[in-house]
Amino acid sequence: MKLAIYPGSFDPVTNGHIDIIERASSLFDNVVVAVSINSVKKPLFTLEERTELLSEITRPFKNVIVDSFEGLTVEYTANKNAQVIIRGLRAISDFENEFQMALTNKKLRPGVETVFMMAQAQWSFLSSSVVKEVASYGGCIEDLVPGAVEKKLKEKFSRL
Ligand code: ADP
Repeated sequence: MKLAIYPGSFDPVTNGHIDIIERASSLFDNVVVAVSINSVKKPLFTLEERTELLSEITRPFKNVIVDSFEGLTVEYTANKNAQVIIRGLRAISDFENEFQMALTNKKLRPGVETVFMMAQAQWSFLSSSVVKEVASYGGCIEDLVPGAVEKKLKEKFSRL
């Protein structure tokens, strides 16, 4: 049974993430979307908000579950008995960091493979940060994120 972990901040989940989740769910028996708890990054959405949005959005994918973790992704992956970490690659700018991370993880846990999936062209410019920035100025994000995320972003920025 092939289990893959798709880790990330998902602050918040975008259409680009969903595309990767959908494609990964057709390649692997099961996919765990794992929300990282990172004490250094200051997320806009709480861990609960991020996991709730992801759970709602991934409900149609029967082999996808949502979880959260703290610490090293590769340790979390190995503890779940998963063989694969999935990462999305957008532009060349993602490459250097991802390359470094994948090689470090390989050194720590040689049995875990990082599998990169190219972003679809239509989402290759899309990031959670861009979505937050556009939303913070009241710009239209309806084609970039699911409706539930758009609603939550509007709530957040009207309260700030
Ligand atoms: P992290 O802080 O771990 O990079 P993100 O939520 O920003 O968390 O991204 C999680 C993963 O999803 C990363 O592998 C990232 O490259 C990928 N990703 C983010 N946005 C997109 C997108 N628009 N298309 C494809 N992959 C994406």
